[in-house]
Amino acid sequence: MSDAAHPATAAAPSESTVSEATPKSADSLEVIRKFAETYAKRTGTYFCSDPGVTAVVLEGLARNKDELGGALCPCRHYEDKEAEVAQAFWNCPCVPMRERKECHCMLFLTEDNPFRGESQTISLEDVKSLVSG
Ligand code: SF4
Repeated sequence: MSDAAHPATAAAPSESTVSEATPKSADSLEVIRKFAETYAKRTGTYFCSDPGVTAVVLEGLARNKDELGGALCPCRHYEDKEAEVAQAFWNCPCVPMRERKECHCMLFLTEDNPFRGESQTISLEDVKSLVSG
C-alpha cells in the first residue's frame, strides 16, 4: 500500500515556533485538505454537493491529528481515542474506504452517490469560512 498521500505521513513535524496567534491546527488543516484533494482524485471520488459537510469533516480530521497525533475519523464515537489511533482502522482513509470506497462521513463519495458534487477540490479559505460561519 502506498501511503504517499496519507495524512499521518504527509505532515511536517511540528517543532515549532508557533505563536498563539497562529494556531497549530492551521498547518494540519492544510495538510488534511491537500491529502483529501489528492485522495479524491486518486480514487475517483468526489466531495459532497454541500461543501459545509466537506469542511466540517476536514476540520474534524485536522483537530484529531493535532490532539491525538493521527487523523482519526471524526464521525464516530470512541471509548479510547488514543487506542483507536494506534489500531489505525479508523485513521483516514479508513479501512472501509480503502477496501470498498465507503466513507460514512461523506467526505469521499463515489460517482453514483446522489449526494456527491462535481468537485474534488476545496480551498483553504472556503474550509475556514464554512466551519466558522
Ligand atoms: S469514513 Fe473513513 S474515509 Fe471517510 S472521513 Fe472517516 S476515516 Fe476518512
